Amino acid sequence: GKDPRIAKIASSIRVIPDFPKPGIMFQDITTLLLDTEAFKDTIALFVERYQGRGISVVAGVEARGFIFGPPIALAIGAKFVPMRKPKKLPGKVISEEYSLEYGTDKMEMHVGAVEPGERAIIIDDLIATGGTLAAAIRLLERVGVKIVECACVIELPELKGKEKLGDAPLFVLVSSA
Ligand code: AMP
Repeated sequence: GKDPRIAKIASSIRVIPDFPKPGIMFQDITTLLLDTEAFKDTIALFVERYQGRGISVVAGVEARGFIFGPPIALAIGAKFVPMRKPKKLPGKVISEEYSLEYGTDKMEMHVGAVEPGERAIIIDDLIATGGTLAAAIRLLERVGVKIVECACVIELPELKGKEKLGDAPLFVLVSSA
């Protein structure tokens, strides 16, 4: 059966219709962060899944992967690596382009943040089309990192984002219609 903590986490997420534009059902995790039990349980569920699996890298996708990633990294004894929007990181970077609904965007990571052969999880708040996580996978795989799993609080399964992740498994806490 399903972990009883999941229902409480799901109900702590606020859905705001038509944000940031008409037709989008925005899944707002800031209300999850206000619920101390739901936030603690969210982190605990990921830590229980990933501790003891030889994971040395938690890669967090800007911006909301920066909220969930660091407490998981600290708890499992891994480093936290930010995957950032272009022109934010001050050092030498490698970057990957990915397509958006209109046009393209880029994701960047510092050179030297990870070593070939390291084992990583990639974390974000939500997977929609999967384009964002797919770019993060490509970035890390280019430098020889093994993606153990992608982890999200929320999946929008109708958008079939999982199919964009190749061989990388996906773990989500909440599926949203
Ligand atoms: P995608 O690349 O299509 O999988 O989009 C995932 C990224 O966009 C994540 O970083 C999410 O935070 C954000 N995102 C996409 N759709 C939504 C949504 N309905 N509610 C909240 N965030 C979303």
